[in-house]
Formats: sequence, structure tokens, C-alpha cells
Amino acid sequence: MTGFLPWQLTNLRNLVKRVEDNALPHAMLLTGNRGLGKLEFAQNFAHLLLCESQTLLTTVTSSTTQVENLRPCGHCHSCKLVSAGTHPDLRIVEPESDAGIIGIDQIRQLREFFLLKCQVSQAQVAIISPADKLNNFSANGLLKTLEEPTHNSYLLLVSHAPYRLLPTIRSRCQIVRFNAPSREIARDWLLSQDLTFAEKDMEQLLTLSAGAPLTARKYLQDKTIDKYREFIRDLEKLQQNQIDPVSLVSKYLTIDPLLIINWLSLLTFNMVRLKLKAPAVDISNNDNRLYDPALIAKIDASVLFEYLDKLNEYTRLLESQVNVQLSLEDIIIEWSMLQNHKSVPFPV
Ligand SMILES: [Zn+2]
Repeated sequence: MTGFLPWQLTNLRNLVKRVEDNALPHAMLLTGNRGLGKLEFAQNFAHLLLCESQTLLTTVTSSTTQVENLRPCGHCHSCKLVSAGTHPDLRIVEPESDAGIIGIDQIRQLREFFLLKCQVSQAQVAIISPADKLNNFSANGLLKTLEEPTHNSYLLLVSHAPYRLLPTIRSRCQIVRFNAPSREIARDWLLSQDLTFAEKDMEQLLTLSAGAPLTARKYLQDKTIDKYREFIRDLEKLQQNQIDPVSLVSKYLTIDPLLIINWLSLLTFNMVRLKLKAPAVDISNNDNRLYDPALIAKIDASVLFEYLDKLNEYTRLLESQVNVQLSLEDIIIEWSMLQNHKSVPFPV
């Protein structure tokens, strides 16, 4: 177990307080942006509930408990079973590989799991992640488990998109909300990781990852940050007619299309900020010719807002069955129209 992350301690403290008050909810919905370690938190918290010698359920007795020091003992029978992935009182429900959804059979099995008595530990814990992958059938099946909790059973649902869950599911869970840490905490944590990067890139990295430290780390490790910079250079070439939209898109088909949308949103948002005489939030990339004041002055703010709306629309489209390449080409063509100061025709 890697331990709780520094920005999760408030969440942990709140849950420990509930344990102390003997009021830990049966069902909890862990929400917040990607990259904040919600699933890791759920796994760590489940492990704490199951550990026999350090279990939360018996040893937490006073408010002086230092949550920073809470961790499973690592050597009891339960801890060994958790580490081996074979603890009979722990169940992790994830989408089945090819369908990508959590099906009704998985939820039936979960119900049967909760109907059994605890085998080893004093609690039974299940994690459903991502919970927004429940379909209508499985979500309705889960309602029964939520409505009739068995003794000392805990259900941890994890989702960065809780709006996709049935309201009847959401309303039966205690929301545990994870927030992005302060820049200072995120910065310190990234510096403590074994990563090679220039400290001057930190601001851009945290902006691109919406302040989520695990995402920032991933962007360094998989070189997404370099791809982003290449993308900016390509948009500059597009502006100067040195590359066409189709060739540009073909270079980025191997990365998540939602990333491209996020980057364009960030750039457009910054252009709006610059128009309003506010500084761009993507500050470490000031050599960016897309932010040329003379150019921005010519673009109407309403055109930029219209484009942001379209990017939102594309985000929804890209989550469904859609031709990614064609969609990205449309988006880039519309971007180049912005750059040529033409108003983008609004669909009727
Ligand atoms: Zn243990």
C-alpha cells in the first residue's frame, strides 16, 4: 500500500470521525476530478477497515488519532490476503473488459457477497469503479443492496462523473468529494516523485492537468506535455498555412481526442482572458504566437464563446459512437476559421 496522498487527509479525517461517531455510512460515493487518486483512496480505506491489528473499527477511539499515521499493519492475515488480492471480505467490481460496462450479473454477485457473513475481518467492503459504468439494469439491481445494508458492510462507489449515475443511487450514498490540492501541495508532491523535469514547467503542467497531481505525473511520464507543445507549434503552422487541418489531425489520432478538446478549450479560454486584459493561465508558454494581441483584438469575444460551446458539444459527441477523425477535423477547421477572424456559422 502506497498510503494516503497528502491532499486526501481531510477526506480521511472526515471518514475517521464518522467511524469514531459510530456513523460510517453504508454507501459512499467518492467523486472529484480524475487524477486525484479516488480509487487508490478507496482501496486504502477498504484495507484499513479490513486489517485485523490496526483496524479502524476497533482502534480509533479518540479525536487525537493522527490520520497521517493510519495505515494497515501489513502483516496480519487480512493484510496478507488483501495484498494477494484474495481477501474474501473484499470485492472490487470493475467493467468487464470487452463490454466496458458493469453488468447486472456482477451486481447480483455483489448482492450475494453481502449476504454472506464476514469470513476473516470484521467488515465486508466492496468498491465499484467507475460507478458511472453501471447500466440501467445493474444500477437498478444495486438499489436493493443500497436499501437493505447488511451489518458492517461498506460500499465505496468511485466516479469522476457522478451526474451519469441514477439520482436514486446518488441520493442513497454519502458524497465524499475530492478537491484538487493547492498549487503548493501539488508542487511539493510532484517534486517528491522520481521525475525529471524543469521546475519552470510546473505551472503549465498543473494547468494542463487541472491541478490533479496524478494526471500531471502521468503527463510527464507518457510525454503528453511534449505532445501538447508540439500541438501548439502545429496550430501556429496552421495559422501560417504551413500545414492543413487534415494533416494536422492525422498526427494526433493516437492520443485521447478529449485531450485535444481540452487543449483547445484552454487556448480559447486564454484568448478570452487576454481579450479581457486578464493574464493567460497557461503562463509558461508565452512564446505562443496564438496569443498575439493584434490577432486576438480582431476576434469577436462572442465568436470565442461560441467556439467554447461547440467544444463542449464535441465532448459529448466524442463520448458516443462518432467518427473521431472527422470530428477532430471539423474542430480544427473551425479553429482555423476563428484564427482568420471569420464568424463560425451557427447551426440552425
Ligand atoms: Zn493488518
